[in-house]
Amino acid sequence: MSNIEQTLSIIKPDAVERNLDNEIKEMFKNKGFKIIKEKKIQMAKSDAEQFYKVHETKPFYNDLCTYLSSGPIVAMILEKKNSVLGNREFMGATNPKDAGEGTIRKKYGISIDKNSVHGSDSIENAKIEIDFFFKD
Ligand code: UDP
Ligand code: MG
Repeated sequence: MSNIEQTLSIIKPDAVERNLDNEIKEMFKNKGFKIIKEKKIQMAKSDAEQFYKVHETKPFYNDLCTYLSSGPIVAMILEKKNSVLGNREFMGATNPKDAGEGTIRKKYGISIDKNSVHGSDSIENAKIEIDFFFKD
């Protein structure tokens, strides 16, 4: 049981706007992820800027933060064995055009910016991102 991990998933505004949040949550549950905590919120742009600070030098940073704060999102703590990597695989490639069959982004992603879900990319970042949304 030692490699039971938690990771942070976000259902992004493009998916919530299309009312896909319940379908995406079902996909996670069917894949064996437990949803430990969840909340639907709209982020302030300044929060999105902090969340995506790792990308602050990228040309897409401003649009990305505007987009993430443009409508409600669902932030979730997912738990499963090896959930960090498992969630990354289940999400699919950043660009939905490159996402594999059976992945969330293949099924629901619209474009590289509107790609429906976020997932932590390492155990260390999962802890930071879980705290970002769920530390009281
Ligand atoms: N993104 C974008 N344009 C790009 C690359 C990324 O708009 O050329 C957005 C996209 O929504 C992505 C997010 O920035 O999900 C974070 O990028 P990252 O490389 O961390 O991709 P992810 O970890 O989400 O697959
Ligand atoms: Mg990333």
